[in-house]
Amino acid sequence: MPDHDVIVIGAGWAGLSAAVRLTEQGHRPVLLDAAPQPGGRARGLTIELAGLRCQVDNGQHLIIGAYTETLALIARVAAPSGPAIRRAAMRLDAVDGMRIHPSSAPPPFDLRGGLLRAQGLSGRERWALTRALAGLRWHGWHVPARQTVAEWLVEFRQPSSLVDRFWLPLCIATMNTPPEAACAQTFANVLRDSLGASAEACEFVLPTRTLDEVLPQPACDWLLARGATLMLRQTVRALRRDPASGLWHLEREPAADAAQAAAHIAANTAAGGGLRARHVILALPPANALRVLSAGGHGEPAQRIARLGEFDHEPIVTVYMAWPADVRLPAWIMLSEQPATRYFGQWLFDRGEQQAMRIGAVVVSARGRAWLAQDDAEERVLTIARQVSTQLELPMPLDARAIVDKRATFRCTPDRPRLHVDALAGALPGLWLAGDHLWPDYPATLEAAVRSGRLAASVCAAALRRHASLRDDQRSTAEPVDGPR
Ligand SMILES: Cc1cc2nc3c(=O)[nH]c(=O)nc-3n(C[C@H](O)[C@H](O)[C@H](O)COP(=O)(O)OP(=O)(O)OC[C@H]3O[C@@H](n4cnc5c(N)ncnc54)[C@H](O)[C@@H]3O)c2cc1C
Repeated sequence: MPDHDVIVIGAGWAGLSAAVRLTEQGHRPVLLDAAPQPGGRARGLTIELAGLRCQVDNGQHLIIGAYTETLALIARVAAPSGPAIRRAAMRLDAVDGMRIHPSSAPPPFDLRGGLLRAQGLSGRERWALTRALAGLRWHGWHVPARQTVAEWLVEFRQPSSLVDRFWLPLCIATMNTPPEAACAQTFANVLRDSLGASAEACEFVLPTRTLDEVLPQPACDWLLARGATLMLRQTVRALRRDPASGLWHLEREPAADAAQAAAHIAANTAAGGGLRARHVILALPPANALRVLSAGGHGEPAQRIARLGEFDHEPIVTVYMAWPADVRLPAWIMLSEQPATRYFGQWLFDRGEQQAMRIGAVVVSARGRAWLAQDDAEERVLTIARQVSTQLELPMPLDARAIVDKRATFRCTPDRPRLHVDALAGALPGLWLAGDHLWPDYPATLEAAVRSGRLAASVCAAALRRHASLRDDQRSTAEPVDGPR
């Protein structure tokens, strides 16, 4: 079994962030993933629309200016031609006529001016909106413990029209959890770092190509060029620690077809079997981390490990649609969700032109369960197509296809577990956790994933340094000393 200083399990955005940070600190991590491509829940995908192959993502992702660590990571690993993203001024345009655009005043008055001058909202609604944000700021962005977003909205006397048209879509878009269940403190944190900060923090950062080309592919190229090892199609079945040597043993599923690991990634893939490492960063979704650790049969910290099983999840559905190329779509627009008519679409994004077709992506988050509950799979896609064509006065699309992620994000409730990257390190030395569920300040987002990975790597690197200096000390005391005895 080869020995490694550190292995990162999971090449989603958390694992990639951890591997990049470790490499920056002078290590050569091994990064492995069960999938044939890196990126996890934020990756590119090929689908067929109107019989033609189109490059899309496994779900429409929105990055905003407040994602400082994510944007720094993207810039860090970008090819010399620059990152595959573009920034656009924050604009909230809705099909019902609501328009919120920042004013030209300097920050933070750009956003406040924009909110006060929002079109399509009554004076009472605009006043209530600014009062709620001012109230949060006044209280240092703190809300009572265990409060839900719905309770917070009642406390701040937000008119129901404003709740339906502004707060509900914003809560669902940022937390993928409906207001009646969503954690008000996490929502306040999101507002603090976006609407409460500046128009720049709220800027939309849109991929110019697929998500693969935004981070997973450039990060893997960057890592491989610096001596890291990337192993794809490597499912870790169990993780055990040998108390005598202190080494972690990774048991892998037999490698099914390692040679076929995504052709576009030059992975130096190894065969299945065992691997050993002094330190492990486990960057898996909570249920997968729980499975791998439970199979390792750890006695004492079992209760702490079990907490990983306490997360509940929400689906996200993305419906990709294709129109003839001459159809014009807004860059993005908020749709009007009407559950009574099964119009569950919340946002439409223009995905540009491909195969001489105009591609759009409609997002159904938090309502994914209701959408999935409809019996007829074809009819539920058609209903979203009808919603878009009715609300935007467009022709029906040539074709539409839904991508469903049943466990897209954790349900961001006030009583979800609050775990940190070192949640298990005390009981299981050398084991660090990473993933979007390990940044308790934020909902399940790319930024939470990237931050958790970076922090896990920093504490792991500090432990590696301590280990190295201990080894040096032991070596120097064991060496024979010249001179009189
Ligand atoms: C459809 C959709 C839309 C979203 N929209 C947004 C958005 O607009 N903005 C935003 O910020 N966030 C969004 N998110 C959330 C965001 O994608 C996630 O928060 C983020 O990708 C999580 O990254 P992660 O690295 O923590 O986990 P993951 O991406 O889940 O990575 C975990 C990795 O571990 C691997 N793995 C699992 N088990 C094993 C095993 N046993 N052995 C080896 N490898 C294993 C998996 O293959 C995966 O690559 C969205 C998510 C989805 C699904």
